[in-house]
Amino acid sequence: MDYWKECISEAFDDAGITATDEQIGIVASWAQGARENYGMAHGHDCIPNPVREENEKLKRQLEKERQKKTCPVCDGKGRITTQGPHHSGNSGCWGCGGEGRVDP
Ligand SMILES: [Zn+2]
Repeated sequence: MDYWKECISEAFDDAGITATDEQIGIVASWAQGARENYGMAHGHDCIPNPVREENEKLKRQLEKERQKKTCPVCDGKGRITTQGPHHSGNSGCWGCGGEGRVDP
């Protein structure tokens, strides 16, 4: 509130307007209210903010990533190693596509 009172007080001084402290307070509260409603009045709240969108997308990705569980097929290694008596194999895990983690 003091910020707005100071702003209005200086604006009045500049314009040569004399006002009481109470009058300045009333004008200041209007200016403050106008500031708070500015985004709504001009539709800024409805326009997607690309930075915010990106942030939300990353948040969702992170959340999804956090919910993933260790792949039960490869135990999180991302590869399956088979050891047989005559040959061994090493291939990408079919359970997680080599990522080592799967959606729950
Ligand atoms: Zn796997």
